[in-house]
Amino acid sequence: MAKEPEYITVNIDTPRKYDWSTGKYLGKTYAEAKENKKLVANKCPKCKKLMFWPTIVCAKCKVETGWEWEELPDTGTVMQYTYLVFPLWDPHYGERWANPYPSGMILLDNGVYQRYWLEETDPEKLKEGMRVQAVWKEDYDERGIGMQDILYYRTIEE
Ligand SMILES: [Zn+2]
Repeated sequence: MAKEPEYITVNIDTPRKYDWSTGKYLGKTYAEAKENKKLVANKCPKCKKLMFWPTIVCAKCKVETGWEWEELPDTGTVMQYTYLVFPLWDPHYGERWANPYPSGMILLDNGVYQRYWLEETDPEKLKEGMRVQAVWKEDYDERGIGMQDILYYRTIEE
């Protein structure tokens, strides 16, 4: 029989307060999420592709993307999903942990793909092609971390 691993706990009391810049492109995305509950992408002036996450250079055209922005729709269609029903080891804290939400590949209504959590946890109701809408954190002080200001995508009937 395998021996159970032993773990040690290291308590660190030193506060780790710091500020760091996200840069103007990513900073705009974070600010729009926090202030307006919107996800925004910037657009390549040459191929017109939307960049999400925004970038300063289009990877395809190798040109500077500039400052043309477009709001991403908060609705989309689930193209694929993964539902992990057993816990894994949390690499940061060494505890067993299971995310309660399935992870969905969502095609937003403007053609941008996004991988994010789905609220629906009933395997009988999870379907490719289901329509979903973003549910944002309501508390202003809890927002400010970009796309994770969205709690999950909720199934909608249309
Ligand atoms: Zn381009």
